[in-house]
Amino acid sequence: MSESEVIERENPAHPEEIVGSVPVTPPESVHAVVSAADSAFRVWAARPLGERCALLTEAVAALTAERVDELSHLLARELGKPLPDARGEIGFAAVFLRHCIDAAPSVLAAHEIDDAAGRLSFRKVPFGVVAAITPWNAPVILSMLKIAPALVAGNAVVVKPSPYAPIAVTGVVESLASVLPEGLLQIVHGGPDTGEALVAHPLVRKVAFTGGNVVAKAIGATAASVITPTVMELGGNDAAIFLDDALLNEAAFDRIVTASYATSGQVCMASKRIYVPRARHDEFVAGFVEASARMVRLGDPLVEGVTVGPVVNRAAQERLEALVAESVASGGEVVDVGVVDPSASSGGYYVRPRVVLGLSDDSRLVCEEQFGPIVPVMAYDELDEAIRRANAGELGLGASVWSADESRAFEVAGRIEAGFVFINTHNRTGMSMRAPFGGVKKSGFGREYGDEGLLEYVQTCVTHAPALFRPGADPEATARASRAYPGQ
Ligand code: NAD
Repeated sequence: MSESEVIERENPAHPEEIVGSVPVTPPESVHAVVSAADSAFRVWAARPLGERCALLTEAVAALTAERVDELSHLLARELGKPLPDARGEIGFAAVFLRHCIDAAPSVLAAHEIDDAAGRLSFRKVPFGVVAAITPWNAPVILSMLKIAPALVAGNAVVVKPSPYAPIAVTGVVESLASVLPEGLLQIVHGGPDTGEALVAHPLVRKVAFTGGNVVAKAIGATAASVITPTVMELGGNDAAIFLDDALLNEAAFDRIVTASYATSGQVCMASKRIYVPRARHDEFVAGFVEASARMVRLGDPLVEGVTVGPVVNRAAQERLEALVAESVASGGEVVDVGVVDPSASSGGYYVRPRVVLGLSDDSRLVCEEQFGPIVPVMAYDELDEAIRRANAGELGLGASVWSADESRAFEVAGRIEAGFVFINTHNRTGMSMRAPFGGVKKSGFGREYGDEGLLEYVQTCVTHAPALFRPGADPEATARASRAYPGQ
């Protein structure tokens, strides 16, 4: 990638093919973008919520079926994501915007208490300009998780997507922005310099970041230097724990296989390490391999029937192959899974989906986020031991517990250090728009989805008239209260 004038994005399935390009926003141009956003914010925030929602409903309509189809093809080609998944991601982004529009009137409602103690009014006030800095692995939905709640709540948004998947998200942002007031929703492109300029800008009032922990530290430091709050959605190393009574039928295997390999495993909440009772280990592996043969077809994302595409770039491919070699060297047994479509011989950045058996807990594949289609399966003897091993490490984004006994599964889930625990599923099939999502420990802070995801983009501001200082109050009590702490 060159930062001179444009970012050209290659197709990871056919690296010689350029999918398209976007203009780089040099750091010195960020000021004009943020200033325009700030001006738009002031007008937007003053409009009644109903008017904002009506305009945002029109904005969703700008994502017509034809536009979604065109953008899905671009997303599939720039990211290597199978076409039905690319279509699903963009469709889901529209559904999520509608969800925020519907939720806003109750979640953002102002309210008052007016009683013998006085009058309090609570207002949910937007921050101003929000910088949304997003990764490449699900560029449209991960941007929309910030755009939708921020705009509904009355903020302006400047999105900076990853240079590795900037094209489809630009199309989505431009479609929405075409219906909205000028400057309210903008997109800038570039790498760390452009991102830094945005985070450091004094008129950016909140930074919403999704990405890796290394960049999170840089963004956190810059944001702290200008006292700008952040919400951080970071990496995970999700454990899937199968209990001894887990129902290991075809549908369950289909779910765990999809949870592991969708988007080539490049999903923050993918199932990244699997723990099974020793007595059921071989049964599990056999069922997993069989389900993978049904569910996993590695190849060109535009070819019908392909469910797993290439990984994002050559560096990711090399990193993952090195991880496999290291796993073999440390005694792991590597098993190829799924089927390879002929289209995977194009020289693209393909990584054969695999499971790795018999690794110890200190292997890198087990204790680090692999972000690819290589998944370790480990046996355990005691449930307490499995929970302890699942909780090891600094990451705590998602996890799953699989059991025929839902109460038991919930009890185990309560002992897992993760922001979101799925029961009998994992990854996107277990998401709920009403449930806040985010990490504990070093997987981040703040939430997306749910009411909390909307409340991330407002601050509660209060007006208070204490009863004792109202005209007509008892003068003696007023005099006492004028010098004391409340309630004394
Ligand atoms: P990344 O951290 O490398 O980059 C994310 C974004 O930050 C990109 O837009 C990048 O250009 C920008 N950036 C880089 N340096 C910057 C700087 N100094 N200042 C401002 N911006 C800067 O992440 P990635 O490789 O694109 O994405 C993969 C990571 O994202 C994985 O760790 C994954 O787990 C995580 N992720 C988390 C979630 C979640 O919801 N928790 C969701 C998806 C992905």
